[in-house]
Amino acid sequence: MTKIAVCGIAGRMGQRLAHLVLESEDLELVGATEREDHEVVGRDAGEAIGVPELGLVVTSGLEPVVDMADVAIAFTTPDATLRDAGICAAAGTSMVVGTTGMSDEQLDRFSETVAPITCVFAPNFSTAMNVLFELVERAARVLGEDYDVEVVESHHRFKVDAPSGSALRLAERAAAGHDKKAADVLVHGRHGKPGERTRQEIGMHALRLGDVAGDHAVFFGAPGEFLELRHHATSRDSFALGALRAARFAATTDVGLYDMGDVLGLG
Ligand code: NAD
Repeated sequence: MTKIAVCGIAGRMGQRLAHLVLESEDLELVGATEREDHEVVGRDAGEAIGVPELGLVVTSGLEPVVDMADVAIAFTTPDATLRDAGICAAAGTSMVVGTTGMSDEQLDRFSETVAPITCVFAPNFSTAMNVLFELVERAARVLGEDYDVEVVESHHRFKVDAPSGSALRLAERAAAGHDKKAADVLVHGRHGKPGERTRQEIGMHALRLGDVAGDHAVFFGAPGEFLELRHHATSRDSFALGALRAARFAATTDVGLYDMGDVLGLG
């Protein structure tokens, strides 16, 4: 049995992760955390996810449970994830991290912090989305800069960062197909009179509406045609099941910082 701690158990992803751990035959839920002012702290984890008592108390930090866990899974906030990364690194506990919205400085700090442990960090844990990352880079390379690239993403109204980490990864892969860096060619939205589109720019557009779990489309357009490559997440289980696959990988893989592509053997 691989022992799992779920950080942010009352969150949208935390709840699905915990449910799927409980449903699995090879994973055991040994820890559950929430932010210290959350009403579920100190209560049974079953209450936090709407199932009968589990005999596991939700804690406000990973410290009390980190030694019991083989892998801590964090889909929380950048600050909370950085703190949990430090706790896991000190304890030698592996991590799976899906939190998005870290600044460049936080990303650097995160990579340094998790250096002593096994960690899978990905902006999107869905298997099909990771296939899309590959397809987008290949399409960009084959089509070249004659085809304008635009990324459009949609997410639920509660999402706090924009554009999504997955949309940024799609732009990075499209830019890589043009032997460029996304940071040098990304244009976020357009308004006023931005002038004609440059050939090399990659447009990025974020929609926030309703309860969309995640929708990403990459368009490649040239005179006479456009190609649309699209991923549509119909529920959060695509991410949660991928994260559990990553947890099994992390529990059996040497120290290192990995991506979901490594878990799936892509690239
Ligand atoms: P959410 O707001 O529903 O859940 C986050 C949870 O973390 C909340 O319950 C919050 O109280 C908790 N939290 C905050 N601070 C904490 C702390 N110090 N300790 C413990 N828990 C703490 O958000 P969500 O929709 O579940 O998304 C969470 C993150 O995961 C976001 O960054 C989102 O973009 C990302 N995400 C990534 C993927 C992926 O595949 N990589 C998929 C979906 C969401």
